[in-house]
Amino acid sequence: MATADPMPAPAPSERPVVRALPRKHQRMKAGHPWLYSNEIEMTAALKALPAGCIVDIVNAGGEPLGSAMFNARSLVAARAIARAPGVALDRQLIEARLRAALALRDRIVGVPHYRLVHAEADGLPGLIVDRFDDVVVVQANTAGMQRAEEAVLDAIEAVLAPRVVVLRNDSPVRTLEGLDLGVRLVKGALDGPIALVENGVRFLADPSVGQKTGWFFDQRDNRAAVAAVARDARVLDVFAYTGGFGVTAAVNGAREVTFVDRSDAALALAEQSAGLNGVADRCRFVRAAAFTEMELLKANGTVFDVVVVDPPAFVKSRKDLAAGSRGYVKVTRMAADLVAPGGFLFTASCSHNVGAELFADLVRKGLETAGRSGRILRSAGAGPDHPVHPFLPESAYLKGQLLQLD
Ligand code: SAH
Repeated sequence: MATADPMPAPAPSERPVVRALPRKHQRMKAGHPWLYSNEIEMTAALKALPAGCIVDIVNAGGEPLGSAMFNARSLVAARAIARAPGVALDRQLIEARLRAALALRDRIVGVPHYRLVHAEADGLPGLIVDRFDDVVVVQANTAGMQRAEEAVLDAIEAVLAPRVVVLRNDSPVRTLEGLDLGVRLVKGALDGPIALVENGVRFLADPSVGQKTGWFFDQRDNRAAVAAVARDARVLDVFAYTGGFGVTAAVNGAREVTFVDRSDAALALAEQSAGLNGVADRCRFVRAAAFTEMELLKANGTVFDVVVVDPPAFVKSRKDLAAGSRGYVKVTRMAADLVAPGGFLFTASCSHNVGAELFADLVRKGLETAGRSGRILRSAGAGPDHPVHPFLPESAYLKGQLLQLD
């Protein structure tokens, strides 16, 4: 037998290593999942890595901190996927985390309609999966998840075998990671809106054209809390979108519900949902600009027993903080103006740049400007199918307050 070529030396590990700057590793060592770009020793070699590739993170002394997805273009340069080195973001890992996420939701939500994966809190940085039974809507908001798209879709298929899979990769946060925007149907066909059940109420949502994934599951518990005070009430649901708050209130005995939104398509779905639940005769749909309509109602002397204001994010980036904060004061003031004495106000903010404390301040200022007081019945965020990573409290973007006003 001819002598073989000498064995090649074992290939050096192909996995790139990202080194934290001195002392900048401490948060990650404690369990924080991120390293910012100014916390790492940025080199030309790291800059040349494909966005989203998986790396090992080490401290300045070379001690391993874990495995992470890496994107030199993003302010959040590294997002941990494991606290051990050498872990791959492959089909097996994604499937295991998906199964854990599914087990949690099946335990906490009684129906198969929920946010199945909430990014870092479910161990899958940047991945959002909303489930409407056999229709699944997926968003990959980091370059690392984008690179793992095929493994994500395979894992979803293995765990749920859904009838329809929609990739809603049109969230503007993708641009922070250098990703392009687009929507793609990757499995099955969607012919019109899909049905979902929440708090025992039937709804229609349209994941291919709707906002975000087509339904805001995050307000589930807040909708139930509002509905619990809505018996016999006259309800105003401003920024109603597809009617989540108002239809739930109507089903729970509200006397009449007025829905205000500037989107015809959203109100059409709200109206259909009201019909599905047999409450359309108690619902009125007004396509209008929210502030103009609230002014008009006030000028007419109209008041309600329950007013809900759930606006879009007024503070999309930190530079909007001052103007957006004024927006929350104004919307709370205008809504409070329409609440009858003894009635209820639910006000919310989904701006992640507005923390819970600031939000509470802004609501208080709004009440002050309206000359109203009362009592806070509930201060709450999103439901538990939107868990929060304990080291990323700022990712708890949703704040809501339910008050009774004197
Ligand atoms: N409350 C809803 C979610 C609201 S999303 C729910 O429970 O699902 C925000 C909604 O505000 C969208 O439907 C959008 O069309 C509407 N909107 C945004 N700006 C508006 C404005 N200036 N006037 C009226 N509606 C507006």
